[in-house]
Amino acid sequence: AKSNADLMARRRAAVARGVGQAHEIFVDRAANAEVWDVEGKRYVDFAGGIAVLNTGHCHPEVIAAVQEQLGLYTHTCFQVLAYEPYVELAEKLNALAPGDFTKKTLLLSSGAEAVENAVKIARAFTRRSGVIAFSGGYHGRTMMTLGLTGKVQPYKSGFGPFPAEVFHAQFPNELHGVSIEDALASIEQIFKNDIEPERVAAFIVEPVQGEGGFYVAPVEFIRQLRALADQHGILLIADEVQTGAGRTGTWFACEQWGVAPDLITTAKSMAGGFPISAVVGRTSVMDAPNPGGLGGTYAGSPIACAAALAVLRVFEKEQLLARSQALGEHIRTRLSAMARELPTIGDVRGLGAMVALELFATVDGKADVHKPDAALTQRVLREAAQRGLILLSCGSYGNVIRILVPLTASDALIDEGLDVLHASLKAAQA
Ligand code: PMP
Repeated sequence: AKSNADLMARRRAAVARGVGQAHEIFVDRAANAEVWDVEGKRYVDFAGGIAVLNTGHCHPEVIAAVQEQLGLYTHTCFQVLAYEPYVELAEKLNALAPGDFTKKTLLLSSGAEAVENAVKIARAFTRRSGVIAFSGGYHGRTMMTLGLTGKVQPYKSGFGPFPAEVFHAQFPNELHGVSIEDALASIEQIFKNDIEPERVAAFIVEPVQGEGGFYVAPVEFIRQLRALADQHGILLIADEVQTGAGRTGTWFACEQWGVAPDLITTAKSMAGGFPISAVVGRTSVMDAPNPGGLGGTYAGSPIACAAALAVLRVFEKEQLLARSQALGEHIRTRLSAMARELPTIGDVRGLGAMVALELFATVDGKADVHKPDAALTQRVLREAAQRGLILLSCGSYGNVIRILVPLTASDALIDEGLDVLHASLKAAQA
């Protein structure tokens, strides 16, 4: 029989050390919000492959669509021989993106690739080079996206130099002492110290920081950022790789802004486990690069397009946007009850079903926001895994537990997972 320990030993011997792993578990099979490991142990999955499984593991409709596509063709390269699923997916994403203007779409394979291309497109349109990203932001592991990422350890360390003309402003984070005014002032500082606004092509911002800790960008801040962008002819890019595909209660989180970004990057849950990503944006901007300037051998793979179209149908049929809102509310209510009982939980927050809690050391029986507790967070993850729940941490201080459970999970399974989380939080208190 196979064991996790044996497979971990083979992994350590054969796979580069730099690839991290949250849990020392090897999967055997998975369905919706449950996974079974190679030793036959069952887990409730609150990680969803890092925000990829809003429609659950192996949704039958997604699998059926992929199987049908496998019987027709698997690859032609869209730049050689085109196929309808690519065009249909582009039409659907254009219709879903907010903004009172026409849109076009470019398909790629990973989130980082979408962000790379959004920057290329913004530069081609504006004929400017500068990009302003935010502290704590995460945009991927390629050179440009690492440059944009606002966290050195473990992502950027040892890999530089990164492309020039990238600057970091402060992300507003009330809990950790950065007000909206502070964040806006930090942009003015960049204009004063580093680059004139006339040379800035784009701002790139996550509607809710993902890897950075599930901090929601205040709508008031986004509106002011939009105004600043308009004032200086700068584009606004919403990186929705983690927030998109219904996680936050709307298809794109930026639908809740009341102002539209010029470009949106999206990936992860849009195809329910198959690798595809997109840049969706204003037609005039999207059409700036010359023919041949955009693309990729596998970009917009027909298999992944078929999966993405099936995901969109599942969202309609199962009303997953409403589910995302209701589920988020339910999870937040339960986490808030746990926070009243356990003083180490210093904050519960989120948007739709993108929910997190943040753990701190206590002083006089109260969470101290100056003492993020990453060790406690890791203990909770281990306690939960032992009890059959897969959790993920995140955050600039490593002290946030995030919930990315499939929206298709039953109420009973959600509550089972939350009960285990509750027990694990209690067990992990020092
Ligand atoms: N942007 C954001 C906001 C992300 O959360 C991620 C992945 N965690 C990426 C970009 C990179 O996506 P990928 O890993 O698919 O390249």
